[in-house]
Amino acid sequence: MIRVGSGHDTHRLEAGYPLILGGIPIPHPRGLVGHSDADAVLHALTDALLGAVGLGDIGDAYPDTDPRWKGADSALFLTETVAKLHALGWRVGNADITIFAQEPKLGPVKATIRENLARLLGTPVECVNVKAKTGERVGHIGRAEAIGCHAVVMVESFHATEPL
Ligand code: MG
Repeated sequence: MIRVGSGHDTHRLEAGYPLILGGIPIPHPRGLVGHSDADAVLHALTDALLGAVGLGDIGDAYPDTDPRWKGADSALFLTETVAKLHALGWRVGNADITIFAQEPKLGPVKATIRENLARLLGTPVECVNVKAKTGERVGHIGRAEAIGCHAVVMVESFHATEPL
């Protein structure tokens, strides 16, 4: 059996914050603001996985009112979610990620983000795709006020006797 899930996230860009996308620190004068490390890519991907198996959303699992998640490395949210899915008999088939950013240009880091996402998901790199779009200079993305991400995942069920 397979299931699909989608996730979306946006965070505000501001001076004085680090920019981390897909778990990769990216040199830039501005970064994303949030309760955790504000990694919109890892948040969208985590939401997509939760959605695929009917487990609600990242806010249910890791509420931003909880001081434990202040400044948290969002890789923790993703790897814990992958482990939760494994425990329920699901593994990740593939993930398709679209990042919306007017700045910085993400072309040079797309491959690094892809490799890191595959590592965190426990999939071959071929099972992950990372695309980058600008905001065409309109709206909050296009004015570089925020960075957004859309993630789609497919998960497949496995029998408990199969290796993960
Ligand atoms: Mg978020």
